[in-house]
Amino acid sequence: MQNQIKPIEAYYIEDEPYYLPSHNEVDIFTEAYRNHLPVLLKGPTGCGKTRFMEYMAWRLKRPLLTVACHDDLTSGDLVGRYLIQGSETVWMDGPLALAVKTGGFCYLDEIVEARKDTTVVIHPLSDNRRILPMEKKGEVMTAAAEFMLILSFNPGYQSIMKDLKPSTRQRFVSLEFDYPAEPGEIAIVVQEAGVDQETAKHLVRLGHMTRNLKEKGLDEGGSTRLLINAGKLIQSGISTHDACQAAITHTLSDDREMQQSMNEMISSLF
Ligand code: ADP
Repeated sequence: MQNQIKPIEAYYIEDEPYYLPSHNEVDIFTEAYRNHLPVLLKGPTGCGKTRFMEYMAWRLKRPLLTVACHDDLTSGDLVGRYLIQGSETVWMDGPLALAVKTGGFCYLDEIVEARKDTTVVIHPLSDNRRILPMEKKGEVMTAAAEFMLILSFNPGYQSIMKDLKPSTRQRFVSLEFDYPAEPGEIAIVVQEAGVDQETAKHLVRLGHMTRNLKEKGLDEGGSTRLLINAGKLIQSGISTHDACQAAITHTLSDDREMQQSMNEMISSLF
């Protein structure tokens, strides 16, 4: 990420992203932004959190810097570091510092995956100090008025070790996301995959059925993203059964019995 950071202009979203709101999340986010409050997006993977962020960044005309967190991600990756360029040492802002400086939106996706030391930079930015300590540079940067910190996490997925600490959570306005309600999800699959209404309806039904398998041992049901992927394969000419098997069954489970159950669902629907 560090070496790939681009000038801030590259992070503006020019064309309106397609986003179908579920509730009043657009209004709440907008008011959180106006009140300089950080936001936490909670919800299962593939249910529209990232798309929502893209839409809000476009709507509020702010650059969006997204960081996919992982277990090697340190506060240095977010803040920046000195790099050797020829015979010189130059400071390179990380995505968080760039957003703080320019009034961008910094979206830390799956924050609980990051190293614990990232909380050192998140905390002073997410209370009313709104400052970023840049330890390596020996500076403290005050956030531009438009800067916004957004975290996402998937509560169903976390082990107790990886839950968000209350001291972090309680700084945020929380928006709870879930898979869109049936008519909305059908519209999204039609729009994103290009399939007809009838196919989308069946894919969404299949999505619901796999989500019900969660209590029966499946880690996570088919997300909106997976339904769209299946729809795209169907739209490209793959048979419905093969498309659903590749995009949904085999993606969700390695267990033969579970796969069998899902294949039966596919056969019953299509
Ligand atoms: P997450 O960030 O929650 O893992 P994404 O935002 O990447 O999920 O959603 C996966 C895909 O599902 C998106 O690329 C988009 O095509 C579609 N999608 C989900 N919810 C919506 C929505 N409300 N409006 C439009 N598209 C959506």
